[in-house]
Amino acid sequence: MLEGASYIDGTWAASGERQEIHNPAEWDEVVGVVGLAGSGEVNAAVSAARRAFGSWHQLGPVARGNLLFQAASRIESSVDELAQLASREMGKPIGETRGEALRAVAILRYYAGEGMRGLGDVIPASNARTLQYTTRVPLGPVAIITPWNFPLAIPMWKMAPALIYGNTVVVKPAEWSSLTAVRMWQLMADLFPPGVANLVLGLGSTVGEALIQHPDIRGISFTGSVAVGSHIADVATRRGVKYQTEMGGKNAVVVSEDADLDRAVNAIISGAMRSAGQKCTATSRVIVFEAAHDALMSRMREQLATIKVGNPLDPDTYLGPVVSEAQYQKVLKYIEIGEQEGRLVAGGSLQPANWGRGFYIQPTLFDQVEPESRIAQEEIFGPVVAAMTVRSLDEAISVVNGIPYGLSASIFTRNLKTALDFVERAEVGLVRVNDETAGVELQAPFGGMKGSSSHSREQGRAAIEFYTDVKTVAICP
Ligand code: NAP
Repeated sequence: MLEGASYIDGTWAASGERQEIHNPAEWDEVVGVVGLAGSGEVNAAVSAARRAFGSWHQLGPVARGNLLFQAASRIESSVDELAQLASREMGKPIGETRGEALRAVAILRYYAGEGMRGLGDVIPASNARTLQYTTRVPLGPVAIITPWNFPLAIPMWKMAPALIYGNTVVVKPAEWSSLTAVRMWQLMADLFPPGVANLVLGLGSTVGEALIQHPDIRGISFTGSVAVGSHIADVATRRGVKYQTEMGGKNAVVVSEDADLDRAVNAIISGAMRSAGQKCTATSRVIVFEAAHDALMSRMREQLATIKVGNPLDPDTYLGPVVSEAQYQKVLKYIEIGEQEGRLVAGGSLQPANWGRGFYIQPTLFDQVEPESRIAQEEIFGPVVAAMTVRSLDEAISVVNGIPYGLSASIFTRNLKTALDFVERAEVGLVRVNDETAGVELQAPFGGMKGSSSHSREQGRAAIEFYTDVKTVAICP
């Protein structure tokens, strides 16, 4: 059984209060135990990050990149072990956690390479002999607060750019995915000088709160719920600290009358059911043109019936459990609401008896849902889809945009004009044509509009905007 602790200033902290982590596929199984940090450990971690900052910055991006390349190789050598642990800890099927571990490796390599790319521009000055240029400087110690749903990739896609651009970090993973974070740190943390890559385990309400309030933290990068993200935005604004918040989604797939229905059905099911719908970019609304409605619904019903629900470690499993009892109860509550608000096509609140002590939910589809109803407006974060019928592209776009979120949306059509209209008018940060709402390549900017995001972008080159400040320099003769 894995025992996990915080990693502060190059050492593993002595464990304080201990907490068991259970397997959501078999709740009686204890996957490991973590020692929870408190505000003392947060202070120690931030102080270490502050002390390490100067020399880490001075080391320069090429040398920092070399360390990230080595970290990538260490993680790569343990991809299968990390995938197994993440699947046992948070319930995502093994094929997906393996893909996520490989993604973490690729992210580390991408940002290692960034260490060899230019950081600024030379800009003409009025006096031709003046050298005027921009450069980028790191923020300082950065707090990184992550959710449980991508326990391998999200910490890396925040930490790797933070480090390559010269910041030091204090990472607080979600309580439910702490063991996966600990194992990643065990594999790679000794590569970095003490204080550069700190990990603190504990509850958001104590450790997370102490971190965002700490006066020496110069940037906060957060992914998680709207409630916590909004709170972090308020705290950071009050303190004048740079922040980025990536939050929820209520992502729609529009199926027009000329869509390739087989492709659309595959994309909806993959977008809605992989990770048990627990992705910020998961498909949770289907907006179908009247002419395509009956054929789409019957194909969806047929295909949903073939989904294999089961243990995440079984390579044939498509849909594993949701992460926790709280999440399970929340999703079932929404399914009950859906049973009032729409027509149940597949799944529902009745759970097969042979699923035992796992938090399994059937793949669920509601039809004839009103766009203003709760299951069409609120993020459920489970394997549940609400379908609505529309008569025109204008109506479809108005339904797509008629929610507080703006993360991802997709349209299935063979008509180029329809596709381009949709691309222009959908109020989302990620827009797709003939593709699922979930999944963005790591070199492309990721983020949302409206209530989904603070409007900054993660991933790819875009991350430099958050993790650095621009300095404009003029050197006169
Ligand atoms: P969450 O409850 O907001 O938690 C996210 C992180 O914030 C956790 O580490 C949590 O700690 C911590 N936290 C909680 N209260 C805090 C506080 N007062 N101060 C500082 N940190 C605090 O979200 P979640 O349930 O883990 O994740 C699901 C949500 O994340 C969904 O809404 C999903 O859409 C969103 N998400 C968004 C993206 C995106 O890129 N847009 C990607 C993935 C997920 P503890 O959990 O340990 O308490």
